[in-house]
Amino acid sequence: MSDQRLHALFQAEGLLRARIVAEPDGRVVEEERSPLVLLGPDDDDAYLAPNPAPTDYPGKPLTQMTLDDYHVFLYRWLEAAARAGDLRCVYCGIALRDDSDLADEETWDAFLIEKELVAWMAAHFDCKRWIAKKLKGMHPFELPTREPPVYDLSTLDPALTERPTYAEEEDVD
Ligand SMILES: [Zn+2]
Repeated sequence: MSDQRLHALFQAEGLLRARIVAEPDGRVVEEERSPLVLLGPDDDDAYLAPNPAPTDYPGKPLTQMTLDDYHVFLYRWLEAAARAGDLRCVYCGIALRDDSDLADEETWDAFLIEKELVAWMAAHFDCKRWIAKKLKGMHPFELPTREPPVYDLSTLDPALTERPTYAEEEDVD
């Protein structure tokens, strides 16, 4: 049920991608892809965008979330991924740390790319300028659609669920 709500949110925001496929037996079927989250630079780092429900996120429930609210959730989820050692720069592949005291070259940003590929990801500030070229080679229908890891967000300060902390979409052209 809650995955249907996530699907409905993505659909309302135009974040689903579809393609028509002709089967060998002549049938024509439509395939659909939901937004992804990329935990690193490789195809195997792609997962379906996570549902807030199993994380015990203390912010708004999914039923009340706008896309902006979901962006905030996703950012907190990526921070948890970094703490778990699961998050790498989508360009250079170096592990990203969740720490308030990062050296300049270690600072990173999370963002949504909304092209043919729709995906949240994180990259060093210095790496972001190279991302557009890399993403041109990634197509949603060629990436795995696996359930993402579940991180426990229940101890998150509720104040951190309310404020957007990053831009909705970066211009990477
Ligand atoms: Zn990097």
